Amino acid sequence: MGLIRLLPRSGAAQPVVEPVNDATPEMPLEEALVEPPVVSEPTHEPEPAEVMPVASPAVQRDDAAPATQGTATHVIALANQKGGVAKTTTTLNLGVALREMGYRVLLVDLDPQGNLTMSQGLNPDVIERSMFDVLVHRIPISEIIEQREADLAVASIDLAGAELALSAMIGRERALEKALAEVRASYDYVLVDTPPSLGLLTINAFVAATGVIVPVQCEYLSLRGLVQLENTLAMVRENLNPQVGVEGIVATMFDGRTLHSREAIEILEENFGELVYRTRIRKTVRYAEAPVKGSSVLKYDPSGAAAEAYRELAREIVAAKEAEDGAQARKHA
Ligand code: ADP
Ligand code: MG
Repeated sequence: MGLIRLLPRSGAAQPVVEPVNDATPEMPLEEALVEPPVVSEPTHEPEPAEVMPVASPAVQRDDAAPATQGTATHVIALANQKGGVAKTTTTLNLGVALREMGYRVLLVDLDPQGNLTMSQGLNPDVIERSMFDVLVHRIPISEIIEQREADLAVASIDLAGAELALSAMIGRERALEKALAEVRASYDYVLVDTPPSLGLLTINAFVAATGVIVPVQCEYLSLRGLVQLENTLAMVRENLNPQVGVEGIVATMFDGRTLHSREAIEILEENFGELVYRTRIRKTVRYAEAPVKGSSVLKYDPSGAAAEAYRELAREIVAAKEAEDGAQARKHA
C-alpha cells in the first residue's frame, strides 16, 4: 500500500470520477520521448485454439464470499489508457505463467475490442453472452467463463455499449466487483484486461481490484499518461475503493540495443523507483505470433525467452505478494 504514495499526486481530489480517455491531448515530459503512433488492431481472426489440458477449478457460486475484503484473492487490473502498450499480452502471459506455477487464475476481458478473448482462439463477434451481460444484465459471471489456458471471462462486441448502459445504472462503478464476488473464492489471481481509456469499464476494474499493474512501452513512454492514470486511481481510492493503488509498472517492448529504450527505463526508475519491476519484457515478434495461433507465448514457444520473461515477471509478482502478505500477518499478530 505504501508504494502507491510514491506516485505523483494531483492537487485536491475531486468528488466525482471524471473518465479520461485516449483522446486527451498529452505532452511528453521528456523531449527524447515521443507519443506513440496509432496502433492498428490485428484484423486477423485467430484459428481456434486447442484447449490446454489444465485442471481449471470448477466455478461455483459462493454467495457467502465477501465482496472485497477478507480473502487472499488478488484482483489485479492491467491498465494504461494508451493502446498498444501490451496490456492484453501481459494479462494473458502473466496469467498463464501464474497458472503454470499452480495458482488458480481467472482472466477477465473488459475491453470491447476483445483481443484477450481472441488471443485464446475465441471470436468476440459471435459470442452471445459476455461480460456485457454480466455487467449490464447481472447474469452470473460463472455462466460466461470459458476454460482455456486459464479460465477466461469473455468479451463480445456489444461490450462497447456497456459504458453507456452502465452510466444510467445505480452502482455503475461496482458492477464488476459485485460480479466477481460469486467466483472470487475459487481463484488466487484474477487479472482484468482493460480498454485503452480511463472510462467506466476501467473504473469498474479499479473498484474491483486489490492492485493495478501498469504496462508501459519503453519506446513511447509518457510520464504524463502515468500521472493521469494515478489521478483517476486517487479518485477511486477516495470515493470507492480505499485499498487500490499501483502495485507495479512493467516495462514492455524493451530493446536493450537502443539508447532510447535504456533511457526510458532510467526515466521510469528515477520517477517511480521500486514500483518498476526488475523484469523487462523484451521486444520480440513472438508476442504477436502467439495470439494468431490462439495461444499464449508460454504454450506457443514454451522454452523461448519470451515465455521465460513472463515466468520471471510472475515470480517477481508472487514474491512481492508474499512479502506483503507476510508483513500484513506480522502486523495483525
Ligand atoms: P494493449 O492491450 O495495451 O493495446 P497489446 O497487448 O494488444 O497491447 O499489444 C499491442 C501489440 O504489440 C500486439 O500486436 C502485440 O502482439 C504486440 N506486443 C506486445 N508485447 C510485445 C513485445 N514485448 N514485443 C513486441 N511486440 C509486442
Ligand atoms: Mg488490449
